[in-house]
Amino acid sequence: MSAAPSDATPTHTGSCHCGHVTYTGSFDLVSGHIIKCNCSICHKKGYFLLSPTSTASFSLLTPTSESELADYQFAKKLVHHYACPKCSTSVYISGFFEMGDEEIPFMAVMANTLDKRLDGEPLEDLRKVKIKYIDGRHDKLELLDEPFPGGAW
Ligand SMILES: [Zn+2]
Repeated sequence: MSAAPSDATPTHTGSCHCGHVTYTGSFDLVSGHIIKCNCSICHKKGYFLLSPTSTASFSLLTPTSESELADYQFAKKLVHHYACPKCSTSVYISGFFEMGDEEIPFMAVMANTLDKRLDGEPLEDLRKVKIKYIDGRHDKLELLDEPFPGGAW
């Protein structure tokens, strides 16, 4: 039996503040990055967006259906903003970014809802994860190392 490759992306669990909403997913907190965006909702809610290595690696554990989550949508309603219906913690977003005629699938958890790694190793230190900034306010996906106007560190 061979050991798992040391560079395998670990599986993590995460939850809202009260524990009603829980999930698992694989997140690369070493070479990956957290995204902060200056659009109206990302800015006001203070989102720290972290995409799983694949959407397929993400599973909502509890409650059993997304229909049991608080779901906020606005404008063209391309993105679900899921939160806990009990403690109101924003947990993840899922939907599409519009780029011209294209709709690009996008899914991300709030990095600060991560709890632990399933392999028993300590959770990565979020202070060491690179933060990248996007200009969502103008529907641009270019990533920079500093906030665009209207955003915040
Ligand atoms: Zn909760």
